[in-house]
Amino acid sequence: MDPGEYDVCTYCGKSIFPDVAECPYCHKYTDGKGPHGLNAGEPRRLAWYYVLAGWVLLLLMLLPFVLQLWAWLK
Ligand SMILES: [Zn+2]
Repeated sequence: MDPGEYDVCTYCGKSIFPDVAECPYCHKYTDGKGPHGLNAGEPRRLAWYYVLAGWVLLLLMLLPFVLQLWAWLK
């Protein structure tokens, strides 16, 4: 096989045919979003924002209860 005629799986890093949609080794779709992909650091940064947003939403939801409890204890 010619060395220039294969692609690298973005999940397991093995050499696969360039036109296959699913990797024959790890059976993941070669969409470039795996750990071997070009933008591998992107999902982690997005996840950090999602966690922060989740905590802010949780605190906003709990705020009325905390205020009510504080008013009741006073
Ligand atoms: Zn793979």
